[in-house]
Amino acid sequence: MSEVGERIDAIREEWGDRLLILGHHYQRPSVLAHADKLGDSLELSRLAADQEKAERIVFCGVHFMAESADILTSPEQIITMPETGAGCPMADMATAELMQTGWNRLAGVCDDWLPVVYVNSTARIKALCGKLGGSTCTSSNAGRVFEWALEQGKRIFFLPDEHLGRNTAATMGIPDDEVALYNPACADGGLSDDEIRSARVVVWKGYCIVHVAFTINQIRQVRAANPDATIIVHPETPREAADLADGQGSTSQIIKAVEAAPDGSTLIIGTEQHLVERLAREQAGRVTVKCLKPSICANMAKTNEHNLLRLLEEWPDELRIHVSPSVADNARLALQRMLEL
Ligand code: SF4
Repeated sequence: MSEVGERIDAIREEWGDRLLILGHHYQRPSVLAHADKLGDSLELSRLAADQEKAERIVFCGVHFMAESADILTSPEQIITMPETGAGCPMADMATAELMQTGWNRLAGVCDDWLPVVYVNSTARIKALCGKLGGSTCTSSNAGRVFEWALEQGKRIFFLPDEHLGRNTAATMGIPDDEVALYNPACADGGLSDDEIRSARVVVWKGYCIVHVAFTINQIRQVRAANPDATIIVHPETPREAADLADGQGSTSQIIKAVEAAPDGSTLIIGTEQHLVERLAREQAGRVTVKCLKPSICANMAKTNEHNLLRLLEEWPDELRIHVSPSVADNARLALQRMLEL
């Protein structure tokens, strides 16, 4: 272990269970080596909410995840990040002001909408969702949250990832002509009143740069070169490519699929590269795991052993994540609706 790594572990030992380090699966291996718990967005949200003993929680992930941890923990618990500049470009594609404009546009045509907001969004977006009676979702439980909304006879306004919205609707058998795209850069969202009336799901025009890198052509080429392999992509992948793959799965579903794969099989995965490489190392000799195409989340990669050590040694105030109570109260409603489903 590096000298920096040894210093991190010495501090962890000193703090014991008063300190909790959470690591998202997309983090570098050198960071995950110091995490008490690993998980995807949903698992880490649940873990943060259940950790009453931890006085300080260090979130090795991106900004919206640390915000969710702050919203779900008690006011006495301190949430920090080694690098607060680790944001999520997709989360930033929807602001609360733009969402409110979109909501007004849809509600001006029909009065039976419910917002469903992907956890990859800012706390202010989650707060508006909570205030409007909606729920958050993750890529693991988007189908369940869609069902919850549809069972109430509601239409769904889904933000901020177009592709997760389209893939979830398709998985649930909602025809393409009942899914409309709201483009916040266009007047009226780029939708006529008739298009809004015909839609059961309206998806926001946002995307994840890591997952839109996966295309139909890559899948065709990879399949031709590896005819016996199983290709699985994350549902943030554009619909046409996701449809061509053998399966879709959230981060935790991909991990389970790899772990359950028969000995000697090959899986080709379309998601963030650090996770695929880790699975390949863990399964080496049993199952072959390859990247559909190398694709790194540059924001997840901003956290490293050096900024983690600096945080643990100095606890600077500027690395603390604090969501104001007025935002947190409404955002908690949206997160809790999801956690209770
Ligand atoms: S992988 Fe995509 S959605 Fe996840 S944090 Fe990075 S940019 Fe955001």
